[in-house]
Amino acid sequence: MKYFIGNWKMFGVPKSIDIIKKVTTYKKRDKFNKKYKIVFTPPFTLIESFSNFFKKNPSVSIGAQNCYHKDLFSSDTGAISSFMIKLVGAKYVIIGHSDNRSEGDTDSVVKQKISHALKNNLKVIFCIGENKRDKIKKRTKIVLKKQILNSLNNKTNLNNIIVAYEPIWSIGTGLVPKNFELNETITFIKKILKKVNKKKLPPVLYGGSVDGNSVKSFKKIKIIDGFLIGGASKSSKNFIDIIKNYYR
Ligand code: PGA
Repeated sequence: MKYFIGNWKMFGVPKSIDIIKKVTTYKKRDKFNKKYKIVFTPPFTLIESFSNFFKKNPSVSIGAQNCYHKDLFSSDTGAISSFMIKLVGAKYVIIGHSDNRSEGDTDSVVKQKISHALKNNLKVIFCIGENKRDKIKKRTKIVLKKQILNSLNNKTNLNNIIVAYEPIWSIGTGLVPKNFELNETITFIKKILKKVNKKKLPPVLYGGSVDGNSVKSFKKIKIIDGFLIGGASKSSKNFIDIIKNYYR
């Protein structure tokens, strides 16, 4: 099963549901539609209405882009827990995105968030990735290994984890890893995940400047289990182009 996950970031008003409606209409008619799952993560403000709208539509699931590291309720202004997003219909949650890591989410915060999300029966899209400096210094594998082993362990329910490898230098820049690098990195990530739990290997996605064009090259790397898509998920045409070009 491949995943195409749209991360809207700070984008979207109620009317933006039309983007997702067009994507689901495409998927319904697509002869490859049994081969992939689509998830959209709109901002918190839209999760409840979108989840309700698509409740009975198997073509898409709705998720959140983040959650707080404490569960249930707390006295932290502006915070939203896994419990709260699950209750309004989210099925997935992105945790550890570099946008949040750069604002203070350490590996141990990420670990706490994952643990609450799993307890609340959310599927976790767990983001990892090196920055440009790490890449230049050839520290990519060290960084990824640390991010994985500091946040997952053999008690983590890997059935509900999806890993997203997102090199930070590639997000929103149009720069992407070369195929041989990506193949090597994803292979490495899967090797580390096997160390965490040899019985259950979670899917490993790629994210960072994925669009209808770059996907033509990524699709050659069969060990990639799907894509986390930022910029190109804000337009139904761009999002559909990715799926079309992947299966063409
Ligand atoms: P991008 O973002 O596709 O715009 O590079 C990806 C992400 O941040 O998840």
